[in-house]
Amino acid sequence: MTDFVIYLGDVITANNIMVANASLYWDQAISPTQNRGIPWASVFGNHDDAPFEWPLEWFSTLGIPQIRCPPTGTFCSGEEGCFKGTGRPELLKNEIKHNGSFSTYGPRNLWPSVSNYVLQVSSSDDPQLPLAFLYFLDSGGGSYPEIISSAQAEWFQQKSKQINSDSRVPEIIFWHIPSTAYKTVAPKLTIQKPCVGSINKESVASQEAEMGIMNLLVNRTSVKAIFVGHNHGLDWCCPYQKLWLCYARHTGYGGYGDWPRGARILEITENPFSLKTWIRMEDGQMHSEVGLS
Ligand SMILES: [Zn+2]
Repeated sequence: MTDFVIYLGDVITANNIMVANASLYWDQAISPTQNRGIPWASVFGNHDDAPFEWPLEWFSTLGIPQIRCPPTGTFCSGEEGCFKGTGRPELLKNEIKHNGSFSTYGPRNLWPSVSNYVLQVSSSDDPQLPLAFLYFLDSGGGSYPEIISSAQAEWFQQKSKQINSDSRVPEIIFWHIPSTAYKTVAPKLTIQKPCVGSINKESVASQEAEMGIMNLLVNRTSVKAIFVGHNHGLDWCCPYQKLWLCYARHTGYGGYGDWPRGARILEITENPFSLKTWIRMEDGQMHSEVGLS
């Protein structure tokens, strides 16, 4: 039984979507979770608010296919305004209309990065008592650089100090584009211990620069692991100083690559706290189990 689903960004490939408002596609992507009554949260990736990219072949003798602009209810005026991509705030505004979404807007001063927030996993005995904190950060891309800014790092520092000053409660971190630290632990050819995983078919495509978030995370004993998406051909977890750097597994039917689809599962136990993860493939096969706490 799944208690919660986390969408780690690139929910949609907006650069392939020829409409003014991509929220309909976002809704479709989220719908399997929503239809099962499972709560979820999301962060943005680099494709979610990307502008439409005109395919080169449309400029051959085949010509540009007939373009459908949604007639009403959108901000586009005329055909030229139709394909600018749907901004992060607008995509999120639409998502959180749905019952079951735990996504929220981050502080306004962190924009254009939007999905910066924290969720509390509570003890089963006491809803007030935190068992873990899940931090979500927007690693950029699409409409602005692929980066976690120093302002976001400062936000994390203040927030974690405020709600978990003694680092007693474990913290788990989620964003879309791997930090440059992933490059330093990436398996060379085959995935060997202490790394755990099943595919290593690409180079790490990391953020453009490191602005301080990693330094904060490795120096907090309560931070157990970071989970990212972005590279569809990688699904490993590797230790990095005192924490784990993990990839998820390409789950959706969009995006590049035809590696078999799966999802990374996280299992948290209470008394004592433990964090375990593995990958469950679309056909139900499970592999790459590892303890992260
Ligand atoms: Zn991506």
